[in-house]
Amino acid sequence: MFTTSAYACDDGSSPLKLASITRRDPGPRDVEIEIEYCGVCHSDIHTARSEWAGTMYPCVPGHEIIGRVARVGSDVTAFKTGERVGAGCIVDSCRQCASCADGLEQYCENGMTGTYNSPDKAMGEGAHTFGGYSARVVVDDRYVLRIPEGLDPAAAAPLLCAGITTYSPLRHWQAGPGKRIGVVGLGGLGHMAVKLANAMGATVVMITTSPSKAEDAKKLGAHEVIVSREPQQMKNAAGSLDLIIDAVAADHDINAYLALLKRDGALVQVGAPEKPLSVHAFSLIPGRKTFAGSMIGGIAETQEMLDFCAEKGIAAEIEMIRMDQINEAYERMLKSDVRYRFVIDMKTLPSQAAA
Ligand SMILES: [Zn+2]
Ligand SMILES: [Zn+2]
Repeated sequence: MFTTSAYACDDGSSPLKLASITRRDPGPRDVEIEIEYCGVCHSDIHTARSEWAGTMYPCVPGHEIIGRVARVGSDVTAFKTGERVGAGCIVDSCRQCASCADGLEQYCENGMTGTYNSPDKAMGEGAHTFGGYSARVVVDDRYVLRIPEGLDPAAAAPLLCAGITTYSPLRHWQAGPGKRIGVVGLGGLGHMAVKLANAMGATVVMITTSPSKAEDAKKLGAHEVIVSREPQQMKNAAGSLDLIIDAVAADHDINAYLALLKRDGALVQVGAPEKPLSVHAFSLIPGRKTFAGSMIGGIAETQEMLDFCAEKGIAAEIEMIRMDQINEAYERMLKSDVRYRFVIDMKTLPSQAAA
C-alpha cells in the first residue's frame, strides 16, 4: 500500500479538504494512474453530502479521471507507462453475470464497484473506494480507458460520465440521420447530448424553459429550439420527435414532453430527480410510447464513445478550477452557474497533506 494526497470530506456537512489516503500497490493486472484532470459531476455533490443513502466517510469523490500511466502490473499488456488513460464511474464488476458478459458492467447483477463510495474488495473488509480528487489511483486494466491522441485531455474528462451517460441511450435508441432527437436540460449531461446527437447526424431539438439558452444550444449543435413555457411552441411540436433525452434532475412534468414524441417514440430519463415522476397512462398508451431510463455505459461502449469523440473532434465545454476551489464550485453548480462542466486541474493538489 502507499499513501497519496486527496481532497476528502469527513461527513455530509463539512467542506472537502486536503487529506492523505491509502491505495493498494498495483497487482499483476493493475494500472496506477497519475491523475492530471478530474471532472466534477453532480453525483459527487450528492455523495459528498450524503444526499443518497449510504455515503462512507472519509469520502473522496470524482469519477471523470484523466491521467498518465505511472506503473503497470506484470500481466498488463494493453497499457504502457506514460500513456494517457482514463477511468470513469466503474472500476470493477463481477465479470460473470449476464450483464458483465454482455459488456454492460454498469448493470452488473452482483453490483458494480463504483470509482468512489463502493466497498473496495481489493483493499479488504470494511474498505471503500476513493475517487479522482486525488493525485493517484490504481485501477484494474479491464476498467481503464485509452484516451485517443487529439482529444484535449481536460475536456475529455467529462466524457467519462456525462459523455457516456448520453452516448449510450443515443446509440441504444439508434440516433442518426433522419431521426429527430429532443434534449431536455442544458447542463453537463444535456450539452453532451446535443453535441453527440449532432455528431451522429441526427436533427437535434433543444427543449428548454428559458429562451436565453436558445443561442447557446445552437452554438453547441442544436438545429431547433422549443421553449417549453410557450404553449403554442409545444403544441406545434407535438408528435414530432423520435427520442427525447431528459437530463433534468429537478422535479418536472414529463407528460408535457411525452406529448412531443412520435408513435413508438421513447423518452429516456438520465437526470435523476429526487421525487418520483408522475406519468399519465394516457401519455404512453396512444402512440405506444416508451418511458425509459439509462445509466452510464459499459467499458467497451465508453471506449467506443471516446474514439467517436476523437474522430468527430468533440469534447465537453469546461471551466477549469484549482483543487482548492472545489467547495465554491459545488455552490456554483447548485445554482447552475457553470458552462457546462467544472474540471479540476490536479496539478493544483498539494502533494503532501498537512499533518
Ligand atoms: Zn457522474
Ligand atoms: Zn456482473
